Amino acid sequence: MPASFLGIRNMRPSGVRVRIAPSPTGEPHVGTAYIALFNYLFALKHGGEFILRIEDTDATRSTPEFEQKVLDALKWTGLKWSEGPDVGGPYGPYRQSDRKDMYLPFVEKIVEAGHGFRCFCTPERLAQMRETQRAAGKPPKYDGLCLNLSAEEVTSRMAAGEPTVVRMKIPTEGSCKFHDGVYGDVDIPWDAVDMQVLLKADGMPTYHMANVVDDHLMKITHVARGEEWLASVPKHILIYRYLGLEPPVFMHLSLMRNADKSKLSKRKNPTSISYYSALGYMPEALMNFLGLFFMQISEGEELLTMEELAEKFDPENLSKAGAIFDIQKLDWLNGRWLREKLTPEQFIARVLDWASENSRLTESLKLAQSRISKLGELPNLAGFMLSSDVGLTPASFAGVKTPPAETLEILQTVQADLEKILEWNVETIEAELRAIGDRLGKKLKFVTPPLFVAVSGSQRSLPLFDSMALLGRSVVRQRLKVAAAVVASMVGSA
Ligand code: GLU
Repeated sequence: MPASFLGIRNMRPSGVRVRIAPSPTGEPHVGTAYIALFNYLFALKHGGEFILRIEDTDATRSTPEFEQKVLDALKWTGLKWSEGPDVGGPYGPYRQSDRKDMYLPFVEKIVEAGHGFRCFCTPERLAQMRETQRAAGKPPKYDGLCLNLSAEEVTSRMAAGEPTVVRMKIPTEGSCKFHDGVYGDVDIPWDAVDMQVLLKADGMPTYHMANVVDDHLMKITHVARGEEWLASVPKHILIYRYLGLEPPVFMHLSLMRNADKSKLSKRKNPTSISYYSALGYMPEALMNFLGLFFMQISEGEELLTMEELAEKFDPENLSKAGAIFDIQKLDWLNGRWLREKLTPEQFIARVLDWASENSRLTESLKLAQSRISKLGELPNLAGFMLSSDVGLTPASFAGVKTPPAETLEILQTVQADLEKILEWNVETIEAELRAIGDRLGKKLKFVTPPLFVAVSGSQRSLPLFDSMALLGRSVVRQRLKVAAAVVASMVGSA
């Protein structure tokens, strides 16, 4: 799809190709939407293409469920990609696990040219090595034990079936100098760069190898991603160099931060895109909010549509304030979007769409049917399924039999352990809560009452496991967090 897909301008194709490359290892993060939006606006600005690639080289953490969630969440934001695992394209497949065979020739080329080497070090030896380095106050880094193995030794050890990885060689002196579109000139000493594994023992490439090969094969011209990858650029530049390829232009965007400047994390702020969709934020408002980080505008000019964001987008002049995730500002913008950008008919259509998202309303009604004697009881009984805040106070926990300290332990344990559930559904939630009960030495009937209150705001509500499954992990996480804070204040004053 050409960049005129928004009807903004009819530029001639520029050859600019950018991508968002999420790893499906967790709930889609607002940080992914932030980086995706930058790339999308960049493509629009330059008449280029915006591509979606799934980076699932970490087979232990990537799941199809999370991949679907990433796709759903990015679709919800309204961004459109012209190539991707769901829409195909000329440079597919767009999922790295489906490209496994494409990487090997590139790894071999690096090894054959003497820029890479086989390493047979066991995980135990590497752990021991890192431990020794840490104890000596040195940063953990491969010590090069296998760097100079003879070709015969490598062949015989491989023939004997010893597990082996391929690592890249790193220059022993000097530094890697490069220009970053956001950071400017960067200079990282080679001494600070590890002999990165390129090919894992199971034959899968690592992120670094696959990322570089794919950016090359997919003809990516500009790589815009989070600043946490800045330190990896020397490795990537070296891989390009070893392969005789030209690196793309790099742009590393500052991470989104909490108001106190700490890294945005789910412990402080809800970070899942699904949390914002579940609470009824308009995707246009979220994109508007994130887009403001990529431009400098005056007060009073904040309310911007995607077209207006694309007009004002200025990658040379990112917001000076940094990317502070200020929920109050997002609420303010969302309120303005609801009031100023929707006709009453559009507003009603949005509300109905939102209520029926993920069958939230119909499933809640099914659960409520056997628990009411008249329809007018529904808002009180099932309203928590749609509320952004269930209004917890210490009084909400009055009917909970366990003392506050124990209630707090239950809430905190459940909050942490629910993160371990891979697939979020009624059965897995129930199984995990039972396991938590066993571990705490408590019957399930003592574990659930505080959860009922935390999730629904009352002791009489819809069945707990079903409600939690329908609300979704990100909303449940936030409610448990709020509940734990309320109960903690009771522990203090008990
Ligand atoms: N898979 C990486 C991530 O999820 C992509 C980083 C990059 O864009 O190179 O952050």
